[in-house]
Amino acid sequence: MIRTKNRACTGKRRHDSRDEAVEHRARLLARGAVRLAVYPCRRRACGGWHVGHLPKPRTTR
Ligand SMILES: [Zn+2]
Repeated sequence: MIRTKNRACTGKRRHDSRDEAVEHRARLLARGAVRLAVYPCRRRACGGWHVGHLPKPRTTR
């Protein structure tokens, strides 16, 4: 089987709705994950939601 270049989505859970992603994130946080964000996928072909690390840790100051 030949896979297309879907690197952006591979290895990540895809959720159909934001709620699902939020729930998944909560589970990860419960296991000790930190700074995870729920975000809509950039890829139109995907059209889902993902849970991932924030691009930049936000500093308050
Ligand atoms: Zn995606």
